[in-house]
Amino acid sequence: MSVIANRLGRIKPSATLAVTSKAKELKAQGRDILGLGAGEPDFDTPDFVKEAAKAAMDAGQTKYTNVDGTPELKDAIIAKFKRDNGLEYERTEITVGTGGKQVLYNALMATLNAGDEVIIPAPYWVSYPDMVLLAEGEPVIVDCPANAGFKMTPEQLEAAITSKTKWVILNTPSNPTGAGYTHSDMKALTDVLVKHEHVWVMSDDMYEHLVYDGFEFCTPAQVEPKLKSRTLTVNGVSKAYSMTGWRIGFAGGPAELIKAMAKIQGQSTSNPCSISQAAAVAALNGDQSFMQPWLEAFKARRDMVVAMLNECAGIECPTSDGAFYVYPSCAGLIGKQTPDGKVIETDEDFVSYLLEAQGVACVHGEAFGLSPHFRISYAASELLLKEACERINHACIELVGK
Ligand code: GLU
Repeated sequence: MSVIANRLGRIKPSATLAVTSKAKELKAQGRDILGLGAGEPDFDTPDFVKEAAKAAMDAGQTKYTNVDGTPELKDAIIAKFKRDNGLEYERTEITVGTGGKQVLYNALMATLNAGDEVIIPAPYWVSYPDMVLLAEGEPVIVDCPANAGFKMTPEQLEAAITSKTKWVILNTPSNPTGAGYTHSDMKALTDVLVKHEHVWVMSDDMYEHLVYDGFEFCTPAQVEPKLKSRTLTVNGVSKAYSMTGWRIGFAGGPAELIKAMAKIQGQSTSNPCSISQAAAVAALNGDQSFMQPWLEAFKARRDMVVAMLNECAGIECPTSDGAFYVYPSCAGLIGKQTPDGKVIETDEDFVSYLLEAQGVACVHGEAFGLSPHFRISYAASELLLKEACERINHACIELVGK
């Protein structure tokens, strides 16, 4: 009999992490790999943030903190929500975890009973459905194809809601598509949600600051204040401050939920790293002007990648509103043959071929719930991205017709 619990049979490993570690492994073996799999900025954490971490260590802030965040960090988060989103929270309505990932996980573990449904628009970030499954919930996937801008319509949302719906998870701008809900898109969704009082809203706003071409970010509790009493607004410092490894995510929501989440965290990991929390205080309270050049760099890279991918035979790449991902379709390549005679039947076959033949690592669309697509992270240098797009072009040319 296996030592592994049955619940593990319900989930699969994270595809984003798997691709990232595979690319690292191949690189370590000396292969020439261009990694576009990892969802993390290539910029260094700003110096003022690192200095705050060093100062925290020197000041002896190396001990346990409150389970769900220091008062200083909670206050910095309260100020952030007020400044950026016009949302008012008390300390009892704020939680801090080891990355946005733990915050989402705690919330689902704290609220789902077996069989409760969670509406997840697809394409989705790989971990949402698996977290729901681990918590014994049922993911209800709503397909949002490219021709709908990868966005859920109010009609789709209305149709997906049942008496068993506990949560709807929204993520704007989206990982993996970069698509963002405009204020009027969001209002149309919140108009549906206000009518269904048993449905809670989990808004994953991790890419809030990474938006381009004047796109204006909005979050459900801000667009519809009536929803605030049943919304968990999740955010973190990983992406906007290039602090992925520091592992600080946070959320604002009703005190009862926040308390329940702390109970889970208190019996699993306790507080997030004390030094990282001090660094996050500096990040949130500090001068935010370092972000502007990053945004300009991301936008230039996105424009180049979208243009170059659209030059590739068989690939169609919509432009995106934010984050640092694009989500091209490879429908035009399905059924073609590689020079080795292998038929490309799925997007997973295509990304495996890209990795094997060209050393370009990206994540297949099936992992995000919408095929045949693949996700490219353009959080890499322009030079690397140019080379990667040239290699993808070459890989497409080498495929022979149906
Ligand atoms: N969120 C990032 C990504 O999608 C980091 C990896 C992960 O935790 O999934 O690549």
